Amino acid sequence: MSVTGVCQICEAAPARHGCPRCGRAVCDDHWIAEVSACTACAAGRQQ
Ligand SMILES: [Zn+2]
Ligand SMILES: [Zn+2]
Repeated sequence: MSVTGVCQICEAAPARHGCPRCGRAVCDDHWIAEVSACTACAAGRQQ
């Protein structure tokens, strides 16, 4: 998945990942590789 633009969480750093759960484009700081999700989704991932 190619991602363009800025991180939709901090809106400061270039987006490098696309979250498959919420569809947000996020930067390295807001991407949790262990769960393959953005920080927002990783924080509420208990399901
Ligand atoms: Zn960010
Ligand atoms: Zn997400």
